Amino acid sequence: MKLPTTPEGWAIHLTKLVTLFHAAHGLDQFPIKVAPLATEFSRQVFPDAPITMVEGLDLSSKFDGMLTPSPHGTGEWGIVYNNAITSKGRINFTLAHELGHYLLHRQLSPAGLQCSSRAMLDWRSAEGRIEAQANTFASFLLMPLDDFRAQIRGQDISMDLMRHLSDRYEVSITAAILKWLDITDKRAMIVIGKDGFIDWARSSDPLLKSGVFYRARQDVIPLPEASLAAHPELYSDPDADVVHPRGIWPGDEEVREMMIFGSRNEMTISLLLYPSDAPARRWGDDLDEPEPWDAYDQFQSRRGS
Ligand SMILES: [Zn+2]
Repeated sequence: MKLPTTPEGWAIHLTKLVTLFHAAHGLDQFPIKVAPLATEFSRQVFPDAPITMVEGLDLSSKFDGMLTPSPHGTGEWGIVYNNAITSKGRINFTLAHELGHYLLHRQLSPAGLQCSSRAMLDWRSAEGRIEAQANTFASFLLMPLDDFRAQIRGQDISMDLMRHLSDRYEVSITAAILKWLDITDKRAMIVIGKDGFIDWARSSDPLLKSGVFYRARQDVIPLPEASLAAHPELYSDPDADVVHPRGIWPGDEEVREMMIFGSRNEMTISLLLYPSDAPARRWGDDLDEPEPWDAYDQFQSRRGS
């Protein structure tokens, strides 16, 4: 049997096996149980290099997870998440990410790989970018496209919908929103806020193409003063949802902001929905055309955080 070579290819290959197995046993396919899948599949397909350890360890706070060869030189591998992570969704995504490294990168990295929390957020595929490849694999494995599309078909976009996706696939709400941003034709953006500042943000392709995005910069950008995210303490409703007049968020348009607290409580997650039609472009706008961007262009890292 010819084995896949791409992140999407591997995820689809495993999804087929999982679907067959669950259909045969009348079991629910979701959420995908990464640990038994990793050990069973690797034992059968790569008997010389099986994954024999899947567990939480006390890693440095810098890292969410790692892929590690057995210290005994037996050819066995372990995939590990940081015990400090309490969110089930983040643990599941981390294991899938490390399984992606095992399938795609263990030959390139015989000493294993250690992955930061930031690495888990680098979703933009680019050649040679192994963290993005591991995330693409995890995203397609845990949230297969046809099922994901079926879940959102005909639904209003809301935090309730994102929570449903997060429960179904056992991923964080952030991961569910990033997946949705990857495939939507809507103009939308996720903004992660921390202590009054923008930690990072990402636009959907249609929003990006209309020129609305936060560019990665060295300086610190405060959350807009009138945004929900800037004053989360004012909103006792767990699902704050308002339409802002133009001029609050980037782009000279009305913007609907839905805001919730992240799993790490000091963090806010805002989902911004823009009108479907971008405002007509004016003469000279082309001068401001964003340059070709890479995975980090849309990240807004707050120094010292
Ligand atoms: Zn990684």
